[in-house]
Amino acid sequence: MTTISTTRKDPATGEPRLAGTGLRTQPDRNCPLCPRLAAFREATRTREPEWFNSPVPSFGDPDGRLLIVGLAPGMQGANRTGRPFTGDYAGDLLYATLLEYGFAKGVYQARPDDGLTLVDCRISNAVRCVPPQNKPLPAEINLCRQFLIATIETMPSVRAIIALGRIAHDTTLKALGLRAAAAPFSHGAVHQAGRFKLYDSYHCSRYNTNTRVLTPEMFRSVFARVKADLD
Ligand code: SF4
Repeated sequence: MTTISTTRKDPATGEPRLAGTGLRTQPDRNCPLCPRLAAFREATRTREPEWFNSPVPSFGDPDGRLLIVGLAPGMQGANRTGRPFTGDYAGDLLYATLLEYGFAKGVYQARPDDGLTLVDCRISNAVRCVPPQNKPLPAEINLCRQFLIATIETMPSVRAIIALGRIAHDTTLKALGLRAAAAPFSHGAVHQAGRFKLYDSYHCSRYNTNTRVLTPEMFRSVFARVKADLD
């Protein structure tokens, strides 16, 4: 992993930019790097002009010790509302669990102005733009990793990273400069990655919970372990 210690604000977005790298934590609203996703984004803007329909920024405390990495914005969730995991089923389970373990405070009401705040915690996504059928292509995951790397590098206190699903796990490993074979994905697994611990969980999607691949108890157990380790 590249060690970069100083940051400054990007004049266009106000987001931190890593000194000397050009890397930014937040893509431009019209980020063109993935032509397929940019075209999909434009089509969705035309169809649903009231929706957010842009790369979704991270949410939460940049000084937090916990970073949660999801897959990508859901069409009716973050892509619509502009806040990660907000407005679809995955957010119901995630935010309820964060509130239960003290990583959030307030009341989650599935909208970005509900006043919910994260405590010692931030949420980001492996891919910032909504992909068709929730399936980003490998090249798109690779291109968007630069924003995940910048996000991690600009969180000086982060110690724990929860990867929601295999794609989040694999891209986080690469962001940390590690080979996927060294730390295979498995629900409940914990991998030491330098100063970080990487915790694996199945993604909290409706499909995974409906099929009982992931139960709320299984999901809570990951956060209980993170909480215990951080405390
Ligand atoms: S997924 Fe990421 S890299 Fe690709 S267009 Fe969106 S913001 Fe840019």
